[in-house]
Amino acid sequence: MFDMDGTLVDLAAPPSELAELRAEVRALAERERVALDHFGIFPMYRALCVAGRGADEARELLDQYEVRWARTSARPLVSPYRLAGFLSSSSAALVTSNGRACVAALRDGGLLPDGFLVEVTRDDCAHLKPHPEPVRRAVAVLDEAAPSGALTADDLVLFVGDSDADRLAVDAYRRTRDAPLLRFLRVSPADGSPDPVDVATGSVG
Ligand SMILES: [Mg+2]
Repeated sequence: MFDMDGTLVDLAAPPSELAELRAEVRALAERERVALDHFGIFPMYRALCVAGRGADEARELLDQYEVRWARTSARPLVSPYRLAGFLSSSSAALVTSNGRACVAALRDGGLLPDGFLVEVTRDDCAHLKPHPEPVRRAVAVLDEAAPSGALTADDLVLFVGDSDADRLAVDAYRRTRDAPLLRFLRVSPADGSPDPVDVATGSVG
């Protein structure tokens, strides 16, 4: 399983546009009188979803910015060609808090290959990481692909990600089910740490 932004691709949102989006989502929450305890973009989006107010409008805003970044500033952190090779020989899931439109725009730009067994995006989930739902949805598809119809506690699945939200989602999932044996591996390829594909294949000790 792979996180996307910061792991396979860097959307490289310009700080000024990130601040602009944050301000727009915050203004929306205030208009909708949704109480906020955190001013990060995804936490504010989560609060709107939980309140059931303004979520559609927030999703449109997020999509609009993410697609722009996918087309203008994004860069691959893993060679798309290498990743395509890996995906052709392995069952892998993409588990991202970005929207499906952003994933599609990255793919159109040749920054993200096809070949994931399943892609779990913001649009597929009621709750984003660090909630376990996105991980659970990905595991459900990996279960179906397992020869016996379900992964067991002996099946090792790696989650390669760059953030605390990824790690916490894995921890939360593990508290609900002990299969498969899910391990979190942190990378920060933007800072020169190992290539996520090397990490996933165990070729980094
Ligand atoms: Mg990330």
